Amino acid sequence: MSTESSQQITREEMEVDVLIVGGGAAGLSCAIHYKNLIAAQNNGADPMVVVLEKGSEIGAHSLSGAVMNPVALKELIPNYEELGCPINSDVKKEAFYYLGKSFSLKSPIIPPPFHNHGNVIISLSQYNRWLAQHAEAKGVNIFAGFTAAEVLLDGDKVIGVQTGDRGLNKNGEPKENFEPGMIIKAKITIFADGTRSPLLKRVSEKLGLRKDRNPEVFELGVKEIIQMPAGTVEAGQVIHTLGFPFNKSIGGTFIYTLKNDQIVVGLCAYLDTADPLLDPHRELQKLKTHPFMQKLLKDGQVITYGGKTLPAGGWFSMSKLYHHGMMACGDTVSMVDVKKLKGIHLAMKSGMLAAETAAEAFVKNDFSADTLKTYEDKVNASYIKSELWKTRNFHQALSKGLVASMPEIMLQEITGGRGLVARRTIDHKDYQTTKPVKEVWGSQTVAEMEKRLPAADNKLFFDKLSSVYMTGTMHDEDSPNHLKLQDGNICSDVCKPQYDSPCNHFCPANVYEMIDDSTSGKKKLQINYTNCIHCHTCDIKCPFDNIDWTLPEATGGPNYKEV
Ligand SMILES: Cc1cc2nc3c(=O)[nH]c(=O)nc-3n(C[C@H](O)[C@H](O)[C@H](O)COP(=O)(O)OP(=O)(O)OC[C@H]3O[C@@H](n4cnc5c(N)ncnc54)[C@H](O)[C@@H]3O)c2cc1C
Ligand code: SF4
Ligand code: SF4
Repeated sequence: MSTESSQQITREEMEVDVLIVGGGAAGLSCAIHYKNLIAAQNNGADPMVVVLEKGSEIGAHSLSGAVMNPVALKELIPNYEELGCPINSDVKKEAFYYLGKSFSLKSPIIPPPFHNHGNVIISLSQYNRWLAQHAEAKGVNIFAGFTAAEVLLDGDKVIGVQTGDRGLNKNGEPKENFEPGMIIKAKITIFADGTRSPLLKRVSEKLGLRKDRNPEVFELGVKEIIQMPAGTVEAGQVIHTLGFPFNKSIGGTFIYTLKNDQIVVGLCAYLDTADPLLDPHRELQKLKTHPFMQKLLKDGQVITYGGKTLPAGGWFSMSKLYHHGMMACGDTVSMVDVKKLKGIHLAMKSGMLAAETAAEAFVKNDFSADTLKTYEDKVNASYIKSELWKTRNFHQALSKGLVASMPEIMLQEITGGRGLVARRTIDHKDYQTTKPVKEVWGSQTVAEMEKRLPAADNKLFFDKLSSVYMTGTMHDEDSPNHLKLQDGNICSDVCKPQYDSPCNHFCPANVYEMIDDSTSGKKKLQINYTNCIHCHTCDIKCPFDNIDWTLPEATGGPNYKEV
């Protein structure tokens, strides 16, 4: 079947039963569990389940720490070990340090949020590839290299998505290889498209998904994998640190040891910082200068890099999970225990609960919000709620500062997450907290901060562009820029002089640069969009909310293999 869209483009039309947007842990777990449930019904039904993934292949856009709580995996695929699940190591040793500028203090106890006993260390990229093989073996149709570009609505009912057009040039005109996106209609559409979903951002208001919720807030995480000399690393160690290198911002670091003498080093920074110069890539380089890290990483060679945001607002920031014809799971709806830095098992479990709800809806042949509401009931009755409830006020307290928030955080620990107030609100979005450079840094300049960093040696220390090279990122040079700038004058006239153009700092992929504009004699923003690693930070943290991150042509973006 085909249909004509408003732009007079004829589009192929396809009808499926369950459409899952996003081939991450949430989407793939949903697809696998749904197929298991249908097989268990044993009535010969063979519903069509489609997973759309914008990466060139499953795993290409997957990035995480990743120390995983295997609870959901054990439910989904009990014989996962036998089936060759790519677990790098069990967690064998744990440690927690406070890092001062030049000293390290090992905590005699591991604070409860950092307990990882019973967890496993994985590469999320490899893990998701493995889940995808499993899903395909069960008959799930995985369309990698397909972007869901637009949500299709019939009134306020979600009826599917339109996939992105391919083969447009820089100006948005069709090239010789132009392929119009498809209309995919589904009885149920499940959004599992990860952090800061551009799709739900557009339809949230219309569908009332964020009514009475705290605003969504985020952290930006960056990580590297470092190859150490043979025989020097014992796999299975998990180390968390607080303190250095963070100065004006709040964040923490994670260090995991892998098989084959590899070490993961990463950090996550709160994006509701006042600091306009926050640059997690720079902080990561700085972290490696600390004597504690120097000892750990001596003779190491960085082999890969990546960056991504994760939702940090917790329970009260979660969107409504369902509406007519749709459900949403995982990072899309902020299901991350940010205190423990754990989201994978919650993403998987929510995908599975959405699958159960979908299966029930098919039996009733009713896909209305009234029926899909049971998904929310299932989430409330599961460990998703019991875990997230314990950290429901955590971000709100911590965003006041590490030291200032300690008494409240300890009280939360004792009171099962409550603390002083039953529900702490968040009175800002991340971009609203950014302050002018002078207010935060006085007369210090970025150049001075850069001077304190070691020169890039392309061994342990890297400049941003060389780091981006390691992500394998590609976008067609002659395709439309997906980073939509609203008003360039704000960049030149207000943001540069007062805020020193935060996007030039926070972007972990060097996409944004203020360059000389010979016509105006001022600086103007240049957007190197082909470098973009899809972390979404610019959509979240530009102080003037001046950037809209839209979905680029499918297959573009990073090509993570190990992170
Ligand atoms: C630095 C960092 C460290 C972390 N460490 C840990 C950890 O140690 N342990 C832990 O449990 N959790 C950790 N997390 C959190 C964890 O990674 C996430 O909670 C989890 O991966 C969420 O899974 P998901 O399937 O919901 O989303 P994702 O993994 O983001 O998957 C979404 C998928 O949807 C695709 N997609 C997006 N939009 C579209 C579209 N429009 N069309 C088609 N496809 C689309 C994306 O390409 C992606 O593959 C960490 C996160 C970060 C950023
Ligand atoms: S895009 Fe935003 S952060 Fe970047 S220069 Fe413009 S206003 Fe500043
Ligand atoms: S352009 Fe935006 S989404 Fe892309 S890497 Fe930079 S900050 Fe992240």
